[in-house]
Amino acid sequence: MPQCIFCDAEMAPDTKPEHILLDAFGGRKTTRKIVCSACNSAFGRTTDDALAKQTLHIRNLFQLRSGSGGEAPMLRSVEAGDDKINIKGDGTMRLVLKPFEITYGDDGKANVQFNVNTLEEVFRHIPNVAAALKLPEEQVREQILSTTARSIERRPDVANFTYEFGGPDALRSMAKACLVLWATHVGSDEVRRAPYNKVRSFVLRGSDDFARDYRLLDSREIYDSAEVMRRYGPIFNAIYVSSDANGRVVGHYTLYNLLGFRIVLAESGGTPSRQTGLISNPLEPAVWTDKAAEELPIPFAWLDAPEYPDDLHMARERINDMGRLYERLMTPKQFSRITDAVIAKHGIVSGSASATQEVKDQIIREVAGRLAAHQLDLPHEETVSAEEMRALWTAWAEKRGR
Ligand SMILES: [Zn+2]
Repeated sequence: MPQCIFCDAEMAPDTKPEHILLDAFGGRKTTRKIVCSACNSAFGRTTDDALAKQTLHIRNLFQLRSGSGGEAPMLRSVEAGDDKINIKGDGTMRLVLKPFEITYGDDGKANVQFNVNTLEEVFRHIPNVAAALKLPEEQVREQILSTTARSIERRPDVANFTYEFGGPDALRSMAKACLVLWATHVGSDEVRRAPYNKVRSFVLRGSDDFARDYRLLDSREIYDSAEVMRRYGPIFNAIYVSSDANGRVVGHYTLYNLLGFRIVLAESGGTPSRQTGLISNPLEPAVWTDKAAEELPIPFAWLDAPEYPDDLHMARERINDMGRLYERLMTPKQFSRITDAVIAKHGIVSGSASATQEVKDQIIREVAGRLAAHQLDLPHEETVSAEEMRALWTAWAEKRGR
């Protein structure tokens, strides 16, 4: 039985699979032969979690699913202008607001304003509003259903995100990924030898000295980047480990094609002149390879000579690229969300021919108006008549089985 490269525990048949590239990053390559379940869990809660947290925004923005198919993470209470919004992993946004506010006029009349994402949500809050006003639910409902409502939909203001990558804990997770990938290539007995003591100790316990002496940032585009992007998309993750003739072993970890990290795994004395690599496409998690060293080999000298000349310039360029990519990939999704919402509002099942020409024309007008408003960043305002409110209520109540 092989032993864990970090704690020497023997592997068991039921050892948990260790994701080499984090599951959160869409990683699909796993091994049960190198890291024991206890170490795997401990890293998952600490260093892996620290690295994963640094990429929450990217994963949320591009709606990137995990390797095991989980939805992208939600961002909570993002400040966008004067608003706070929650952005779900499927791209839908919700204002973080009290669902309703009650104010009293001079005449003692109560005004209720709802802050909701869909009109149907108003109905859900009726019991609470009724309790707050000390009125029967039916009375509040009748009041709501006999007034004209205005619904306003608008795009949120620009939200600013700060990207911070690296830091000791995240670096430990990246060093572990390099070491585990290397162990799948050269065997776990090899990486349990003395030349790897420093990096194993760093992964296990952390060390400022290691982070200072053995890690360098790399802002260059990856070697043969056009070909890497052609095969694995514009925001690939890549892990390469390579050794030279003296057995100097270096790992190179590229995070979402934004930033690279070179980590020295052994100064000398490791298995010489070998290379292994793992690349994945987070936009399509099924597209990945652990044969990157054969498909897209990178010279050892390139991997071991990172450059980080002007961090601001690098950050701006790559993050701007990412912004453009976001527009290109996500605009069609926003459009289909709007189109689907309008079609659903008219009670049409997509693809059915049941709608009359009149309804179809109306849908086309509404979709066009809302798409234009969306693109021009204008609020989309709609008046909802009492009849329409009542129709919505009937549909909602039926759905609820009331
Ligand atoms: Zn262990």
